[in-house]
Amino acid sequence: MPELPEVESLRQMLARSAVGRTFRQVVIRESRLRRSVSPQLGSTIAGRTIERFGRRAKYLLIEMAGDQVMLVHLGMSGSLTHRGRGFDPGPFDPRHDHIEFRLDDGSSLVYNDPRRFGLIKVVARADLDAISELKTLGPEPLGREFTAGHLWTTTRGRTASIKNLLMDQRIVAGVGNIYASELLFRAAVRPTRRAGRITRHEASRIVRATQEVLQEAIGSRGTTFRSYRDSRGQPGRFAQLLRVYDREGKPCLKCSTQIRAIVLGQRSSYYCPRCQK
Ligand SMILES: [Zn+2]
Repeated sequence: MPELPEVESLRQMLARSAVGRTFRQVVIRESRLRRSVSPQLGSTIAGRTIERFGRRAKYLLIEMAGDQVMLVHLGMSGSLTHRGRGFDPGPFDPRHDHIEFRLDDGSSLVYNDPRRFGLIKVVARADLDAISELKTLGPEPLGREFTAGHLWTTTRGRTASIKNLLMDQRIVAGVGNIYASELLFRAAVRPTRRAGRITRHEASRIVRATQEVLQEAIGSRGTTFRSYRDSRGQPGRFAQLLRVYDREGKPCLKCSTQIRAIVLGQRSSYYCPRCQK
């Protein structure tokens, strides 16, 4: 499932390839995503120039002339590729190319999503912070507001596991399952620990580990297990660098103890029973 690093690397790539392009036409082949894509999508954005690609949590924000913003969420299996001459659609099943945004230079942004849990909608820039998808989100994990003090304060009295709270978008926005396991390994904190019992020092290690893991993953253009592809249709390279995620029974890279897997909040979680307390 695409998480923050995948969306951020997509944002960076599209910022290089598609800023300044103008939407010419939108072809909707399948409108039934997590919520139906508006039949007015094409008439709303045709003629608008892309000014900037932004991101909030796992939402890509395509900022257009006229103060309109198109939100794109990739759901479980979505990808947005910039296809022009020489693009190899090899990994993409054309039956899942649900929406094609044709641009003024003849290239297209194509939204492909086999499981159709994604979201595409246009809002006025002034309304962005108030829409239901974004208004309850906590601070960005790579932003200045995500500090040890914030994490420590918001977890006081909470009996849920620290891993589940790190994945709670109201506490910090955009940390998903893969990176929550990875960052807790780096912070040497066991995922099952009650969040309310995390010390101030551990909160500080968790914040630092979050930033390191996400930055390294962005540098590798994210993690691909099955479907994720970047804007050029290439898989991310971070899967090779994962230290605990999906490594059940394999030796810990620090101490050689076997990595364990448990289910927390219905998601697989991985940890080293020796390195993580
Ligand atoms: Zn270990």
